[in-house]
Amino acid sequence: MAVTGSPELLIVMSAHATGDEVDDVVARLEEAGAHAHVTPGREATVIGAIGERELLAALPLEGFPGVDQVLPILKPYKLVSRELRPDPTVIEARGRRIGDHYFGLIAGPCTVEHRTQTLETARAVAASGASMLRGGAFKPRTSPYTFQGLGEEALTILAEAREETGLPLVTELMDPRHVEAVVDTADVIQIGARNMSNFSLLAEVGRARKPVLLKRGLSATLEELLMAAEYVVKEGNSRVILCERGIKTFETAMRFTLDIGAVPVLKQETHLPVIVDPSHAAGRRDLVLPLARAAVAAGADGIIVEVHPAPEEALCDGPQQIPAAEFEDFASEIRALCSLMGRVIG
Ligand code: PEP
Ligand code: MN
Repeated sequence: MAVTGSPELLIVMSAHATGDEVDDVVARLEEAGAHAHVTPGREATVIGAIGERELLAALPLEGFPGVDQVLPILKPYKLVSRELRPDPTVIEARGRRIGDHYFGLIAGPCTVEHRTQTLETARAVAASGASMLRGGAFKPRTSPYTFQGLGEEALTILAEAREETGLPLVTELMDPRHVEAVVDTADVIQIGARNMSNFSLLAEVGRARKPVLLKRGLSATLEELLMAAEYVVKEGNSRVILCERGIKTFETAMRFTLDIGAVPVLKQETHLPVIVDPSHAAGRRDLVLPLARAAVAAGADGIIVEVHPAPEEALCDGPQQIPAAEFEDFASEIRALCSLMGRVIG
């Protein structure tokens, strides 16, 4: 049966509700033409009821055995909200984890430029304990006259780097025509800041069976970011990682302004993991470590950092990339701070 409408109600089962009582509520919702999104929690099972508001209102849900409370979902984002799922979501790719007490340390070049540059970086970040490898194959460049990425050739190089280091790959998908190639190779599909509001691309990755790293648009509000994530999750893919990467403000000392407050706000609003990209926010390498420290201290679930064997020769974002030789010290600082925050690199 096609279900229309959005999740409107939260049915909180009592801590002692039985499996049969949960199944009964689900069955009654389905009889009423609604769909039930069941989330078992640490304390109690929560059921999100998705359907027409009027039909749901007519059901005497409060009186059902095992039901503790029936609450309206007031926020415009539903499936990604903490209201629906109070426990944090942990996202896994090739055995590496992000979320709850697992901290994701994602590192690698801005762009795959050639095989040696990528393999050298991958080896350095793997040796220093990174949990995932980043690297752009298709690049969203401000100028059409600059290097646009190696495309499919880069995907082959990234796959070789994964083969050698075992690190899962994070790479950006920009164009619906590349869905197959990127989704096949990537372990985590990145949606860049400039595509955060590309709703058809969001729906595409919502149908993919890989986690999505969704970056905040350059001028997007947190509500807009959460609604973008809702587009992905609504299609069936609930594995979304949100990324604060700096926003446009009047300040010019940095490339963007890292909105550190976004981290605790998002963590309150959503069960999805929230990471920070200090590299693109700063635009300069001397600020990457301080901003990364701030991210860990603010409760971020990870960081994504650009690293290059010779940043002065980089074809893209040279000024903000950390030299591969310095990544070990960077990673040890982050690891130490993580343990203070009760986190381990996942
Ligand atoms: C990137 O991470 O490669 C990138 C281009 O970042 P953003 O989309 O945040 O600008
Ligand atoms: Mn970059």
